[in-house]
Amino acid sequence: MATSRRPDGVSLDNLQGAGTKTLSRLNKLGIFKLQDLLLHLPIRYEDRTRLTPLGALQPGQPALVEGGVAFTDVAGTSRRSLICRISDGTGFLDLRFFHFRPEQLRALSSLRRIRCFGEVRVGVHGLEMIHPQYEALPETAPAPLETGLTPVYPTTDGLSQQSLRRFVAQALRLAEPEHEKSFRLPPRLAPELDALSWWDAVRTLHRPMDDCPKALERARRRLAYEELLAHHLSLARFRQEIRRRSAPVLNTDEAIKTTFQSGLPFSLTGAQRRVIGEIESDLRSGRPMLRLLQGDVGSGKTIVAAHAALAAASSGWQTALMAPTELLAEQHFHTFSGWLESSGVTTTLLTGKIKGQGRREALAAIASGATALVIGTHALFQDAVEFHRLGLTIIDEQHRFGVHQRLALRDKAHPLAALPHQLVMTATPIPRTLAILGYADLDCSVLDELPPGRTPVVTRLIPSTRRGEIIDRIANWIARGRQAYWVCTLIDESEALQCEAAANTAASLAQTLPGLRIRLLHGRMSAAEKDGVMREFKAGESDILVATTVIEVGVDVPNAGLMIIENPERLGLAQLHQLRGRVGRGPGDAYCILLYQPPLSAIGRERLKILKDSSDGFAIAERDLRLRGPGEFLGVRQTGLARFRIADLTRDADLIETVSASAERVLEHHPELVAPLIDRWVGRGVHYAGA
Ligand code: ADP
Ligand code: MG
Repeated sequence: MATSRRPDGVSLDNLQGAGTKTLSRLNKLGIFKLQDLLLHLPIRYEDRTRLTPLGALQPGQPALVEGGVAFTDVAGTSRRSLICRISDGTGFLDLRFFHFRPEQLRALSSLRRIRCFGEVRVGVHGLEMIHPQYEALPETAPAPLETGLTPVYPTTDGLSQQSLRRFVAQALRLAEPEHEKSFRLPPRLAPELDALSWWDAVRTLHRPMDDCPKALERARRRLAYEELLAHHLSLARFRQEIRRRSAPVLNTDEAIKTTFQSGLPFSLTGAQRRVIGEIESDLRSGRPMLRLLQGDVGSGKTIVAAHAALAAASSGWQTALMAPTELLAEQHFHTFSGWLESSGVTTTLLTGKIKGQGRREALAAIASGATALVIGTHALFQDAVEFHRLGLTIIDEQHRFGVHQRLALRDKAHPLAALPHQLVMTATPIPRTLAILGYADLDCSVLDELPPGRTPVVTRLIPSTRRGEIIDRIANWIARGRQAYWVCTLIDESEALQCEAAANTAASLAQTLPGLRIRLLHGRMSAAEKDGVMREFKAGESDILVATTVIEVGVDVPNAGLMIIENPERLGLAQLHQLRGRVGRGPGDAYCILLYQPPLSAIGRERLKILKDSSDGFAIAERDLRLRGPGEFLGVRQTGLARFRIADLTRDADLIETVSASAERVLEHHPELVAPLIDRWVGRGVHYAGA
């Protein structure tokens, strides 16, 4: 078929010398079609275009050398190695192999001249190469050298560099006559970048003729740009598809709203009013809302969400609110039922821990429409959960979820019926660059004003060697009638270990501070236990809450104005900022002590200082992004953002504005390019495109 012969679509079956095993190894590298092979780019290059005389070798440098075999021998007793010495009249070099088979010894001994490539190091008798790549040479005739740099590819077990090079070379040969038929970017889309064609960029990177970093970087940037463009377009296309669908018209009943607001213990900030207005106008538009609400910890996003739920309920539609943890779901359940009950909105909690009869009742209420607002964790995704009329989904703390989870909840709606609206809330400030890229499908609202009466939190960096002092300070603090958090961090360890660490800390604090009411909160406790501990703490019936990072989101105890975070260097700044957001929520002074484990690396100290010097979540996130790269944000790993083949968000951040402008032009003037671009770059990664 003509179309399948385009390089864009050719399958790997056309590859010679690749059996089932090899194909599955290629798949492992994300290579499923010929084109993926073209986009599987080298991580570095080796220069095998020149021979270095043995006498001119420098330790630490890779080199291509050749020489006559002087002798081959096995040396050492405990750790045997095979040594083959070559010389060329200017000097000699030992090739050393630690793992070898008898055949290899025989084979090497029979050779007269060899050529090899490897890194030179200082050995026992002079310079040597460990496990060099080598080949036999004809005894007299000169052997041709490589004409271009040799690429080194990322690979996987069982797939050698040589095989990968052969496959890529084949792919280039197969694609060569076809590439003319492949689509081209329109001219002047991004003048500095698109002057180079896709094909030329690919070829340059696989077969650079010389080691010109400028040319290589230019080719890489050209591809990075196109890749980012493709990702951007896939989200934009998705957004367009959604916008074409209809959505329930959710009108806020003004009378209900007025009563609701008059029952609140505070009046709304200007920012809250503005954002509520933006959301209300989306909700009554008849088109699905796709809105991201960003607001620093404590900016008051919850009440904004409650207004959206109220709009849905007063129009006869259900709302699903998804929180990342059970604890937060439970908190929300209490808050929302407290706020909304008097407005006649019934609220149901649905988490993984609700089982048996309770669960059956909850599911029945959701399915019959008896409940207007369902609050839960990802248990809300389960197939058993059927909504009567789902009109709005709200996702809190979006950074904990990935794009796919966000979209899965929307799929709870009937495929042909109107789509539910979607409100996504996050306290993790998303740096602008990432927002453009990761949320091109969403409109954005920002709560940029904190409710009045917040105390700035004083942040101190204190080494754990001064732990004793800190404990004295807690005792004084509690004597003044205040409460404190002690947060134990163990990142990347199992939950069991985290809980154990927190339990140990609680026990040792109880020993040093007898008479104080110390309680423990961790993820392995049952919902009821956690709830009990939280209620007690909130009511002032305990003094110190020792917790794992489960308290990171949500919990609100105004009297607790002191937080000690152990080993803060293990956490991301955005997460630390969130934790710190638990204090400073009431009158009186507030402190956050970062009890770090010395010595801190220079960068570790710099990061913690950022936190000490700033209370602006956006500024913190921007700087952390620069220090660490984007990996930790917004569940990037799950969103597909981090799975770029070529683009590197730290290196290519400056391309993003260009990409977003190009995307608009492509959508408007060259819509026919959207599908092939997405297909070339995003392909299998984009499960959500058709969601
Ligand atoms: P976040 O944006 O971090 O989710 P919350 O919605 O939990 O913040 O709000 C933090 C605290 O501020 C809550 O106790 C909430 O009741 C309170 N709050 C929200 N809006 C206001 C306001 N306009 N005035 C005073 N307090 C408010
Ligand atoms: Mg919140």
